Amino acid sequence: MLESLKKMFSGNEGDMPVNTGSKPDISREKSAELYEKAKTFFPGGVNSPVRAFKSVYGTPLFIQKGDGCFLWDADGNQFIDFCASWGPLILGHNNAKVREKVTEVMQSGMSFGAPTALENELAELIIKNNKHVEKIRFTSSGTEAVMSAIRLARGFTGRDKILKFDGCYHGHSDSLLVKAGSGLVTFGETSSAGVPKSFAQETIVIPLNDTAALTEAFEQFKDQIAAVIIEGVPANNGLLIQNQDYIAFLQNICKENNSLLIFDEVITGFRIGFEGAASYYGIKPDIVTYGKIIGGGLPVGMYGASAEIMSHISPEGGVYQAGTLSGNPVAMAAGIAQLTELLRSNFYKDLNNKTAEFAEGIQRFATARNYKFKVFYIGSIFWFAFTEKEKIQCAADIDPASMEKFKIMHRELLNRGIYLGPSGYEVGFVSAAHTKIELEKAKRAIVETLDIVFRNK
Ligand SMILES: *Cc1c(COP(=O)(O)O)cnc(C)c1O
Repeated sequence: MLESLKKMFSGNEGDMPVNTGSKPDISREKSAELYEKAKTFFPGGVNSPVRAFKSVYGTPLFIQKGDGCFLWDADGNQFIDFCASWGPLILGHNNAKVREKVTEVMQSGMSFGAPTALENELAELIIKNNKHVEKIRFTSSGTEAVMSAIRLARGFTGRDKILKFDGCYHGHSDSLLVKAGSGLVTFGETSSAGVPKSFAQETIVIPLNDTAALTEAFEQFKDQIAAVIIEGVPANNGLLIQNQDYIAFLQNICKENNSLLIFDEVITGFRIGFEGAASYYGIKPDIVTYGKIIGGGLPVGMYGASAEIMSHISPEGGVYQAGTLSGNPVAMAAGIAQLTELLRSNFYKDLNNKTAEFAEGIQRFATARNYKFKVFYIGSIFWFAFTEKEKIQCAADIDPASMEKFKIMHRELLNRGIYLGPSGYEVGFVSAAHTKIELEKAKRAIVETLDIVFRNK
């Protein structure tokens, strides 16, 4: 056993043998077949790139069904799921309340392109329970919400430039597919082909957790910055938890310069508490964006602000924004059902406690064995980092080489019935449907996996 393991972990791990000496690989026959077919229809066989399993072993799993905290793939393998459709499923898969509400509303038709009472109902649930927004607008995705929020900030301030942070993801609109160039404060460089250079020049990119870079950016681009956009808690490139005093500094410098602060809470909204990261940090952003959880698994996004700022949106104001399926009744129904559950007393307390117990249990084990491994977590979001660092607060602090370890972990976990998003830069989510029994089971599998990953450290 030891000999075979040694052999396996020496040299090139590019293609580990099928039997890892730990657990045999699950069957992926049906998934592989579906993937081959999908490749004839879609670029890379998928409709969103990270699904293609490019950063982990094997072909992507095609999912057959989900229920509670479980997923089943086309080959009949069962998994405890920590991907949660990338965040929306805070109640788990196929939640009865959400399913019943959607089924009921669907009986009356699926789209009208005219207002319905359901939009009011979801809006009221949100606005009554969220001190950061007075008026809102629904969209059909997070990308759309953020794109519109940026346009609103530009329209409101009459300025063109926006400032974003290296390591934050805000969807795939042109202005935001921009990465840091060289130097502390730089115009961005496009991070995708097809984005005009001139667009990227309107986006300034600086590192997170760096007050000097912020100060310099506001000096260099005085009176030109319409808005600073930051994820409530950056959770799309690792989990880069910022200090409260840094966020307070950010809010102040925006105020001093009459720039708007946009909190992109597409991932953190309704996740780190009902009011998201803004309330966690105790600050008031000028514009907030939500997505993911707000739609209960159906496509919904939203942006909101004070009534004054929102009055600039068409048809009240001059900033145009629209959507054929915006406020879709079926999607609203899912949102209403899901958010209603989140407002029950102790919902977040229970979920967050459960997550803390899970994360700390794994951490205690890793620490006892001196493994260079950290579980960062906030609310019910967690991230496994192969690092010695006590904190990781900016993108540059993530060691790309550590992703090789994640790759092994991902495969070993799939083989033990645990499903994580297929990239080491992605966070995991605990849902209300994860019981202590499943979390304990997952914890044991993760711990076993760590032993394998670190066997020849
Ligand atoms: C997921 C996400 C988006 C994009 O939302 P889509 O619904 O995928 O378009 C934008 N911002 C953040 C912070 C996100 O996590």
